[in-house]
Amino acid sequence: MKDAKLVAKTNADHTSEIAITPSVTVGGKNLFIVGGPCSIESMAQMETIAQAHLPIQGLRGGIYKPRTSPYAFQGLGDVGLDILSAMRKRYGLPVVTEVMAIHQIETLLPHADVLQIGSRNMQNFDLLKALGDIDKPVLLKRGLAATVKEFVMAAEYIASHGNPNIILCERGIRSFDSHTRNVLDLGAVVALKQITHLPVLVDPSHATGKRELVAPLARAAIAAGADGLMIECHPEPEMSVSDARQTISLDAMAALITSLVPIAQAVERSIHGPQMAIS
Ligand code: PEP
Ligand code: MN
Repeated sequence: MKDAKLVAKTNADHTSEIAITPSVTVGGKNLFIVGGPCSIESMAQMETIAQAHLPIQGLRGGIYKPRTSPYAFQGLGDVGLDILSAMRKRYGLPVVTEVMAIHQIETLLPHADVLQIGSRNMQNFDLLKALGDIDKPVLLKRGLAATVKEFVMAAEYIASHGNPNIILCERGIRSFDSHTRNVLDLGAVVALKQITHLPVLVDPSHATGKRELVAPLARAAIAAGADGLMIECHPEPEMSVSDARQTISLDAMAALITSLVPIAQAVERSIHGPQMAIS
């Protein structure tokens, strides 16, 4: 892709390994698997997930939520900041959370390890530029109807404004079939790995919108060469305040990760989490 200067692949075998914390990276041999609820609902909810000792490398959860309806739960907001911090300090789990606006960047920086740009903001160019000014990793999700080129150029905005620590995430694109929430574009995952040197994650939760489709597509994503996964899980999935239908239980999450092990080995990847390394 000739328009991308900084994120374009120059060496066919090279993926940039991005440090999330001193002991967790993405883009290397070990897969980066992020799990957690769509929305952070309470300290107890997050404690339950952290205490499940899932072999994940990161915990996700939004406190600022982009919702289709203005009447739907908008996230805990600043009240959730202490919960993010507690997860990192008490459990040694890196935290990934969405930033929706420029003014939230400074608020989130002391509390999170990775700032996520959601689909709806993939081409919010002022937000992309502002994230170029920080050095923490940015997880950039593909826009709802963004082409691969638009996705790559959104990453180029962040890189060209000074932050090379970018992780891409394919989360499904809009199509004509309402059977699934979106269509998981695994072809784009392979293409992105060929076009850019950035690590690429797959989010089978938002891609499908149905919990029964999450594990098979997670396995397909790893087989296709993804560098990790972002998956919505919850102690009581049906009770999730947002995205309940696509959210899996903690037991299902553990089983899913176990089922990935032989697939990871077949593509010369490994799976171990910071909590597992500690214990
Ligand atoms: C999310 O990760 O909770 C989210 C809102 O995802 P997306 O931006 O991909 O819709
Ligand atoms: Mn969600």
